[in-house]
Amino acid sequence: MLKKKVIRRLEKIVGRENCSTCQADLVCYSYDAVNKRFLPDAVVFPANGAEISAVIDLANKEQFPVIPRGGGTGFSGGSLAVRGGVVLVTTRLNRIIALDTENLTAIVEPGVICGDFQEEVEKRGLYYPPDPSSLAFSTLGGNAAECAGGPHGLKYGVTRDYITGLEVVLPTGEIMKTGVQTMKGVVGYDLTRLIVGSEGTLAIITKIYLRLLPKPESSVTIMAVFCSMRSSAETVASIIRDKIVPSKLEFLDQESIRCVETYRDLNLPKDTAALLLIELDGDISSVEKQAERVVEICRKGGAFLVNRAHTAVEADRLWEIRRAISPSLLQLNPTKINEDIVVPRSKIPDILDRIENIRTRYQLKIATFGHAGDGNIHVNLMVDDAVPGEIEKADKAVGEIFEEVLKLGGTISGEHGIGITKAPYISMELSEAEIALMRKIKRIFDPNDILNPGKVFYDSPR
Ligand SMILES: Cc1cc2nc3c(=O)[nH]c(=O)nc-3n(C[C@H](O)[C@H](O)[C@H](O)COP(=O)(O)OP(=O)(O)OC[C@H]3O[C@@H](n4cnc5c(N)ncnc54)[C@H](O)[C@@H]3O)c2cc1C
Repeated sequence: MLKKKVIRRLEKIVGRENCSTCQADLVCYSYDAVNKRFLPDAVVFPANGAEISAVIDLANKEQFPVIPRGGGTGFSGGSLAVRGGVVLVTTRLNRIIALDTENLTAIVEPGVICGDFQEEVEKRGLYYPPDPSSLAFSTLGGNAAECAGGPHGLKYGVTRDYITGLEVVLPTGEIMKTGVQTMKGVVGYDLTRLIVGSEGTLAIITKIYLRLLPKPESSVTIMAVFCSMRSSAETVASIIRDKIVPSKLEFLDQESIRCVETYRDLNLPKDTAALLLIELDGDISSVEKQAERVVEICRKGGAFLVNRAHTAVEADRLWEIRRAISPSLLQLNPTKINEDIVVPRSKIPDILDRIENIRTRYQLKIATFGHAGDGNIHVNLMVDDAVPGEIEKADKAVGEIFEEVLKLGGTISGEHGIGITKAPYISMELSEAEIALMRKIKRIFDPNDILNPGKVFYDSPR
C-alpha cells in the first residue's frame, strides 16, 4: 500500500486526472493477455519523459515498484504489478514526432499503436515491417520492450532490426539517449540493443528512432493444403532452397484448421493435416514469377489443394484463416497457455512429432500454428482451469516441450518474452554464468530494484 502522501506527490507530478487509485481502474490494469492478475496500488498516465523521470525519483525515495505498460497485450505477464506499486501507462505519449521520407527514418513516442504507425508510414509510400498479430492494440514501446515479431520476420526481421536509437528514463531517474538517428553507428557498447527486448526491466522507453523501407510494389497470397505435416515442412524447405524468401510463410496444424473451420466456415477441409499460407512481395514481375514457381513447388510437394488469391479481397479472405485461429481455439477450452518456441526450420516436423507425443501422454488439447518460415511455433495448450490438476498437468507438459525444443537446438521464446510465465524455465536455456551477468546488469541499471521487479529472473513456481 502506498502512503497517502505518496499518492499526493504522484498526482502533483502527472496531474490529478492522470493518477488513479480507484478500484475499477486498478482492476483494469491488473492483467494482460496471460491468465494472472495482480492489483497495483496506483495507475499513472504521464505525458512526457520529465514526468516519468519525476515518478522514478519518487519511487527511489519511497521504495515502490514502477511497472511500465503500453497496450497491456503482453503474453508473459510483463506489465503486471507482481509486487504492487505503480503501473505507469504510456498511452498519452502517442505522437509520431517525425516521419522523414528522404532519410527513411521516423521518431515516435512509445504509446503510438503499431498498426496506426504502419498506416501513416504507408500513406507516404514507405513500409514498417514488424507485424505482431496484436498490432491493432499493442504499442511501439511495448513492441520494443518485448522485441515483438510477426509473420514478416522471415524476410524482414523483427522490431529490433528497425530501431536505431532510443530515448529512455533510467531506473535511477536520468533521461538518456542511446544509439543513433543514422543508418549506421558503432560508438561504444550497443545499449539500444540491450534495452530492446529487456521487457521494461532496464529502462522506460520515451522515444524510439526507427528506420523504414520503401513499400513493396505488389504482393501475392497463396494457400496450400497438405495431407501430412512432414510434406508441408518439406515444401517450406523446397521454397527456400529455390532461393525464394516469402514475406510471410505461416502454417496451421490439424487442430487449428478444425477450430478455424468450425468457427468461421471458410470452406477448409477439416480433416487435413497441415495448411500453409504464403505471401510473396516485391516488384510485380518478380512476384508473378515467384508465385508461379511456389504453386508448382507446393503441388510437387504433395499439396492436394493450392489456391492463389488474384485480388486484395481474395488475399484478405485467405489471411482471415490466420486471424481466426486465436479466437477459434477457445472452443477447445477456456484458458490458453500460449508458448512461442523456436526451432531450426528443418526441425519443425521433429518438434511437432514430439509435441504430439506429449499431448497424447498428458491427454491435453494442444493446437500448434505459427511462422513456418523462421521456425517460430505457437504451441497453445487449451486447458480448463476449473478441472482440478489441469493447470499443473499443462505446466509439466510445457516443461517437457521446452526440453525437446532445447534438444533440437531451439529457444523457449521467439517473441513473447519471459516476464513471469517463463521465468521458472530460463535456467533450462541460459547458463549460470549468463544469468549471473544479466542479474549484475540489472543491478547496475537499477540498484534499488524499483523498475518492474520480479520479472525475467523471478524464480518462484509458476
Ligand atoms: C492476440 C494477441 C496476438 C499477439 N501476437 C503477437 C505476435 O504476433 N508477435 C509478438 O511478438 N507478440 C504478440 N503478442 C504479444 C504482445 O502483443 C506483444 O508482446 C507486444 O509487443 C506488447 O505490446 P504492449 O504495448 O501491449 O505492451 P505491454 O503488454 O503493455 O507490455 C509488455 C512489456 O513491455 C514493457 N513496456 C511497455 N511499454 C514500455 C516502455 N515504454 N518502456 C519500457 N518497457 C515497456 C512492459 O513493462 C512489459 O514488460 C500478441 C498478443 C495478443 C494478445
